[in-house]
Amino acid sequence: MTHMRVIPLAAGECLNISALTQRGAAWRVQTYPAGFALLLHPSRGPVLFDTGYSERVVLSMRRWPGVLYGLLTPVRLDVRETAAAQLARLGFASDEVKEVIVSHLHADHVGGLRDFGAARFHLDAGAYAPLRDLRGVAAIRKAFMPELLPGDFEARIEPLDFRPAPPGLSPFPLAADVFGDGSAYAVKVPGHAAGMIALIVRTTPDAVLDGDGAGLMLLAADAAWSVRGLRQGLEVHPLARVVFDDAQAERRSAEGLREWLFNHPRAGVFVSHDLPEVRHG
Ligand SMILES: [Zn+2]
Repeated sequence: MTHMRVIPLAAGECLNISALTQRGAAWRVQTYPAGFALLLHPSRGPVLFDTGYSERVVLSMRRWPGVLYGLLTPVRLDVRETAAAQLARLGFASDEVKEVIVSHLHADHVGGLRDFGAARFHLDAGAYAPLRDLRGVAAIRKAFMPELLPGDFEARIEPLDFRPAPPGLSPFPLAADVFGDGSAYAVKVPGHAAGMIALIVRTTPDAVLDGDGAGLMLLAADAAWSVRGLRQGLEVHPLARVVFDDAQAERRSAEGLREWLFNHPRAGVFVSHDLPEVRHG
């Protein structure tokens, strides 16, 4: 079976209040990395799962209406940290990236898309439809900055093809085999944003979906603020729920991922706004 190496990275960070991201935590400001991942596919080359921030997000936040976004979640970015800059240091030119898997269209996930002019965008068709025509404050309210998308974004979308999922992906009824080779399956985890997806990646040749999770990596995007929160089902503050696209769906999606992890105890997890998990054994 085809497998991919997963390299968790981050491009910038945002500030938020701990008590909002985890119920019962202190009311203090904490920094959260804007995570993305580089996946190394044996024949498709470097594949990105999201991109983190870019200078364009920072510029947009200096202008109306992006200022509103910056007030809610201030951003810190060193230009050497953008996805394109980090890939260059790892030896990959931006136009070598032919595939970007987009978890959802919030600005901290698509900030760097315009740097990858040769890429196709794999996403749930349901992620873009509700945002497409939004501009100004209406877009910002959905954490969407249309100017971050390349002009030909729509033409480069490769909608994920969801079909009945293999049993090893239960409780998710549907999954999209992104490259048709079993290296990565997308599952639907809407709620935080419409059409959000998580990715289950095979990282070793012998990894199987219906085993104990060894060799599998779950890239959970924004389904939780922390790995611990996801694994243990910790709640966010009720105030944090008001920004969710659909709070009930969000809870169901997180429960689905937690159940999958419970059934695959050896699978690794990467959530976008937490440090990569270090696991032993
Ligand atoms: Zn998000």
